[in-house]
Amino acid sequence: MRFSFLNKVGLCSLLCAMSFPVAWSAIGPAGPDYSKAGEEATRLLSSYLKIDTTVPPGNELKGAEFLASVLRENGIEPTILNTSSQRACIYARLKGNGRKRPIVLLNHIDVVPARPEDWKHPPFGGEIHDGELWGRGAFDMKGIAIAQLEALLMLKRSGQVLDRDVIFIGTPDEEMGGDYGAKWFVQNHKDLVKDAEFLLNEGFHIEKGADGKARYWGVDIAEKSALWLKLTTSGQAGHASMPMPDSSTNQLVRGLQKIVDRKIEPVVLPAVREYFKEVSKTEPNSSKSAAYAEIDRTVNDPKLLNEVLQDKMKSSMLFNTISLTVMKSGYKTNVIPADASAELDCRLLPGVKQEEFIAQVKKTFGNPAVKVEVLDWQTTAGSSFKTECFEAIKSVAAKEAPGIPVVPVVVPWFTDSHWFRELGIECYGFEPFEVDETHLATMHGKDERIPVEELIKGVRRLYKILETLVVSK
Ligand SMILES: [Zn+2]
Repeated sequence: MRFSFLNKVGLCSLLCAMSFPVAWSAIGPAGPDYSKAGEEATRLLSSYLKIDTTVPPGNELKGAEFLASVLRENGIEPTILNTSSQRACIYARLKGNGRKRPIVLLNHIDVVPARPEDWKHPPFGGEIHDGELWGRGAFDMKGIAIAQLEALLMLKRSGQVLDRDVIFIGTPDEEMGGDYGAKWFVQNHKDLVKDAEFLLNEGFHIEKGADGKARYWGVDIAEKSALWLKLTTSGQAGHASMPMPDSSTNQLVRGLQKIVDRKIEPVVLPAVREYFKEVSKTEPNSSKSAAYAEIDRTVNDPKLLNEVLQDKMKSSMLFNTISLTVMKSGYKTNVIPADASAELDCRLLPGVKQEEFIAQVKKTFGNPAVKVEVLDWQTTAGSSFKTECFEAIKSVAAKEAPGIPVVPVVVPWFTDSHWFRELGIECYGFEPFEVDETHLATMHGKDERIPVEELIKGVRRLYKILETLVVSK
């Protein structure tokens, strides 16, 4: 069912807001009008979701122009930076008094593909049904981008003195690795962010349990390094009627068997210890809670460890992992091929060196003749969770969600943050929305949608975080 009432209310508020931007959002004794800001964000997100920025090919220029038009209408002058034909970054800066270093709000404009036939409602319709706003990117990450944009507009309209500049950056190509997006930006325009102290991006969210209650506010402070390897074995080619024990294929299978069967040693990093300790406090399952509370003991106790292993995301923080993803060899059933290869997707915890890990892989493979090539390597150091920015998120959570901890997360995936962490900026991946398992599965899946109420709350949470960090006291 289409939620048309909210649509009409939203449109009216948007038009009013655009005509009298200062009147409704000026800071009075009661603070900003969060419900009007939320309605405006809902309208903006609906429009943004209608712009198809699927990669490939992206066409993110259209998305950048949309964001630019909203900024311009609100008196913030944006710059569009073309990274290739029809692809562009957007950059804008709300000036403060310079007493503190700037904060960056980073978001990506591109989205992953969506097949309309798989979806219940059109992926580029921006429609509201049963109180949820539907569309590819509703969470990842056009929804977050609009929450950032709205919070920025609220700051501007409030007329308050800001101690820091607030920089807004939208990038193309995040889902394809960032060559035409964040990587291009830091290579060609790092001067635009060189003085920044903090950055807020996607990364982790407010985890919501099956019981509908928030468990914790997760903040991505570090991302595992991705190391993609290709292993090749070689041998004599020949007729398959006369088997060769040391054929390329046999060598590969023997070595890979050892890799998939290897014993993996857990590693507990300080941030991960903090994560489990805090998460244990709101975990309703008592055996899980006990396992999380003393993670150093848990990793050495098979029964307790099993509690953690059931959760793939949580357990990924304790191990350097290897997934065997591609195997290639042969072209005919009766021909023994000369070469066989496999590709491994390895995800390494922060601090693990590429050379050391490759040496371990070779040793485990147990065949010195194996050729190992690095297909890709993406890594950065993490950010500290003892900073003013992390503390600001904590102080907002303490008021908005008393009793719900804010925890650092080492995430198994990676985002555009790593390009900016390389510049020395402390980056935090925080999505200001409560997300349950059902909605989490829609990101990069089908039927992506955000509850309108959650979008409205997300704008408020993000605004409060910015207010804490930026507004002059
Ligand atoms: Zn994303």
